[in-house]
Amino acid sequence: MYLLEVQERDVLIRSQVRTDRLHLLFRQSFFSVLGSVLAALMLSWLCWERVGHELVGCWLGLLSASTLLRVALLTLYFRSPVDTRTPQRWERSYWLTLVLSATIWGGGALALMRPGDLLTQALVLLFTVGMSVSAVSCYSAYRSMTIVSIALVLLPCSLWLLFQPGSTQIGMAAASLVFASFVISATRKLSDAMERAFRLTREMACAHSIAIHAAQTDELTGLKNRRAFFHQAGHTYERCKRERIPLCALMIDIDHFKHINDSYGHQAGDQVLRLIGGVIRHSIGEEDICGRLGGEEFALLLTDTTLDLARTTAERLRQAIAQLPCEHVEGITASLGVACMGAGDQDVHMLLNDADKALFRAKAQGRNRTAVA
Ligand code: GH3
Ligand code: MG
Ligand code: MG
Repeated sequence: MYLLEVQERDVLIRSQVRTDRLHLLFRQSFFSVLGSVLAALMLSWLCWERVGHELVGCWLGLLSASTLLRVALLTLYFRSPVDTRTPQRWERSYWLTLVLSATIWGGGALALMRPGDLLTQALVLLFTVGMSVSAVSCYSAYRSMTIVSIALVLLPCSLWLLFQPGSTQIGMAAASLVFASFVISATRKLSDAMERAFRLTREMACAHSIAIHAAQTDELTGLKNRRAFFHQAGHTYERCKRERIPLCALMIDIDHFKHINDSYGHQAGDQVLRLIGGVIRHSIGEEDICGRLGGEEFALLLTDTTLDLARTTAERLRQAIAQLPCEHVEGITASLGVACMGAGDQDVHMLLNDADKALFRAKAQGRNRTAVA
């Protein structure tokens, strides 16, 4: 995340927000699926004496089939690996099942309407209005889904009532349409607020990870800074001591670095630090830790490493540094001190201190060499 450019980060956040909306949609869907079946059963029960039983049976049958389809989709979604739950993969099938079940609901409600039966008309309209309200809460993350499901469920009955001769029916239809228009305008505010909340959450998580990375990283070399190195080194030391895993420390100091700065300039000095940081980073294993302690001093902790192996690693590093191709600077070398965790050590500072003393000897013996504590 911290390595991305601003524009790339924005694209990433946008796609994460879209995925968050999809997760919310699926999480809320159980209620909409369950609610739509319960509402249909209740409406059928209330109108049982007034409408044809075959019609009700056929409607409930179709509705059950579409409900099973939706339940299957939800089950598949929640059983799929999290990284495959993407809008590209799931949005279209969700849309299909939603349109199918809303069409069956709206079509069935329209079929229940009887021209001379005001009570049935009022009951059916009441339930379709209720379904519209629940659509707002269930599909709040997707405004278009809310609007389409309201249109499919509520519009057929309302339009049918609008063209009936009685003024009561026309009044009921007008009221439900006005009501629907209010609901639809409210969905805009709701989905905008939701989008903003998802975006803010993702932006905060991104800013947090950037801040953490910046606080732990040496800007010049990309290695851990002093604080992060000692923090992690302390934990590694304790773990190795507890589990009796051999642990070695390496201290590296560039030779005559002041001279490099003075002769080739500070920028060339920085370039040398960057190059050496790269050499160190590529020379260690996954469990090992390396950091720039300050100036031209680096430290490494090699886990599960014997003193012999650490000495070989140090020599390999020393040779790699001595052969570093640098455009302007010639004769880059470094001295290294190696120490192994012993029974007498109390903490990681003592271990690094031993390595530092060895490094001091390497300097005293003429530099560009490795000394072992
Ligand atoms: P020795 O072989 O004994 O280690 O000699 P040295 O010159 O490397 O050691 P000394 O401690 O005298 O000099 C370290 C120099 O590193 C001094 C300081 O200006 C330079 N330095 C410290 N941090 C940076 C940095 O971030 N960039 C650059 N270019 N130079 C730095
Ligand atoms: Mg130094
Ligand atoms: Mg030095």
